[in-house]
Amino acid sequence: MKKYNLLIGTHITISKGLAKAIEIGQSIGCAAIQIFTKSNRIYFAKKLTKQEIEDFKTATKKSGIKVIAHTSYLINLCSTKEETEQKSITSLKEELKRCEQLDITYLVMHPGSHMKEGEEKGIKKIAKNLEKVLDSANGATMILLETMAGQGTNIGYKFEQLKQIRDLCKHKKLIGFCFDTCHVYSAGYDIGTKKGFEQAFKDFDNILGLKNLKAIHLNDSKTKLGSRKDRHANIGKGTIPKLAFQLLMRDKRFKEIPKILETPTDSDMKEYKEELKLLKKWAE
Ligand code: ZN
Ligand code: MN
Ligand code: MN
Repeated sequence: MKKYNLLIGTHITISKGLAKAIEIGQSIGCAAIQIFTKSNRIYFAKKLTKQEIEDFKTATKKSGIKVIAHTSYLINLCSTKEETEQKSITSLKEELKRCEQLDITYLVMHPGSHMKEGEEKGIKKIAKNLEKVLDSANGATMILLETMAGQGTNIGYKFEQLKQIRDLCKHKKLIGFCFDTCHVYSAGYDIGTKKGFEQAFKDFDNILGLKNLKAIHLNDSKTKLGSRKDRHANIGKGTIPKLAFQLLMRDKRFKEIPKILETPTDSDMKEYKEELKLLKKWAE
């Protein structure tokens, strides 16, 4: 098992198979990767075969790469459409099960969109349904609620909202958080100045607890501070001052936390490679 210093990497496609994603991650120098455990455009997928599980676990162990997963974008635990709400619960249960089978310890998810029913109602519904999902968990995988930009009726653009969801659940040990730099900046947290950066993480610690921060998404933003838009840009090419990423890369508190790029990239991953190089330089 290889030992990596910086736990950085990228989201990797599974279009060529789960085990293949590890290989691809390795080929571009990732120490950590994020995957969907199935197509992110469908609610339900074929069950994983024993072989797929074996191959994936073997590849992961051999590589020493830290793997985290992200749920499908279709899941909305606070949908106002009964059918979508139920499908989301069942789908999330299945995604959690896949992670448990694959020994993936963290599953990142977007809290949900209240679809004009209001944030308070949405938060309660998310917590209630998350509780249902976690009732079926075996405890090997945590669900990480992601900080959101607050686009449309998305919930989770304030740390307080994520706290409310977790506070309403019994299974707190199985709920952690993922910090997305693009989303947080678009939500209005000015992580681009030293003072703003420190304040944002102080608030995060006070409200959510840094010990519950289990993953970081490294994305620049195409839109400005407080825009409430979710538009990822390549690192150094967006509106977030590079100081934010430099501070993040050098901060000892985040050393052991997987830091994942979800930025626009071509199939040859040229952008990913350049960004990883840049981030490694900034870490020094
Ligand atoms: Zn996400
Ligand atoms: Mn993200
Ligand atoms: Mn996003």
